[in-house]
Parts: sequence; structure tokens; C-alpha cells
Amino acid sequence: MTVNAGAAVAAATIRTKVRIPLRFSDGWATGADVYTFTGLVDGKEHLALGLGDYRTAEVPLVRPHSECMTGDVFGSERCDCGPQLRESVERIAATGGYLLYLRQEGRGIGLYAKLDAYALQDGGLDTYEANLALGRAEDERDYSAAAQMLAALEVGGIRLLSNNPDKARQLATLGVEIVEQIPTAAHVSVSNVRYLRAKVEHTGHTIALPA
Ligand SMILES: [Zn+2]
Repeated sequence: MTVNAGAAVAAATIRTKVRIPLRFSDGWATGADVYTFTGLVDGKEHLALGLGDYRTAEVPLVRPHSECMTGDVFGSERCDCGPQLRESVERIAATGGYLLYLRQEGRGIGLYAKLDAYALQDGGLDTYEANLALGRAEDERDYSAAAQMLAALEVGGIRLLSNNPDKARQLATLGVEIVEQIPTAAHVSVSNVRYLRAKVEHTGHTIALPA
């Protein structure tokens, strides 16, 4: 599919760009140009981090990462978001591209509802059933703002760093050309293996899980 980026979404513009040196808890460090935007459709404060030689990358490596406060900030082992974020930043910095940090906690249902869903999962439901039990959709995420940011950054085709077939489908529908989809590594622990298995079995994520 070849469509000009942004063809299907309203235009957003770059609001600011500022350099931030990054150092992760394991000591690995890099620098990011952090972009903010005006005109994003949902009014949320999404960020784009330009990493490595992103300006000259022929087809930038792009990961749309959905915010996960428990995983990204506190190192929760109930999911794989923290290790995926860490891995993604390093891989993007190596080849040049963007980490899109999307403010859609808990697959779009919000932080409190995500914690409520965790409680239901402790009662036996899987991650998708728990969302439904709360009267929410299994996955409420919408990638329109991601497509808007890529268009504002004048990114045409991307190499998509993701295991999620829905991200690829939505971005393509929104006019982003996916030149290639590249899976992240499997970050498996005793606490998240049930969650990862549900992602594979229920929504076709490409995660290589141990048998
Ligand atoms: Zn998470």
C-alpha cells in the first residue's frame, strides 16, 4: 500500500523541539530530540522522540509506544512495556527513527481502569476479558495522532517496530506506508507470561514465547 502519509488524517504541526539526554536505569544512554505538536485530533500531549540519525534515515524505524505508567516508570512485571520501551529506544537510536510516545494507558481505557482490570485478572479473567467485564472494549487505542505526528515530521514510509497487527492495520488505513514490520524481542517473566500468551492467542501478536 502506497499512500502519502497523512492523506487520511487532519494536519498537525510541530509545536516545539527540544534536546533531552536520556540515561536508563541500566546505565545505557543516548539523546533524543523531543517534539511536541499542535492540532492532534484527541487533544492529548503525545510526544515524538527523534533518535539516532533520524533526519537522514532513508526509511526511519518507528515504534508507536502506548504509555504504561506501571511498566514504563515503575518497572511492573505484569506486562512487557518497560523492556519493550528500553529495547525500542536502543534499536531506533542505532538506525535512526522515532519513538512515538502515545498517551493511551491500558490499551486506551486509562490508568485507574487498567488497575481495576488487573484486579479482575487476579480473579481469573485474561487481559481482554477483564476490559470487557469493565464495560470497555478489548483495545480502545486509536493511532490517528501517531499518523498525524508522522505527517508533521514529513515521514513517508516507515519500518514499523511492533508485534501488534492492529497497529499496522490502523496506520496503513490512516495513510502511513509500512515498508516493513519488525517484531520486538520477547520479554517474558513469570508474572507476564499469561498476559503475553493472551496477546498471541487473542490478537495475533508476533511474540516468540517459550513452549
Ligand atoms: Zn504495560
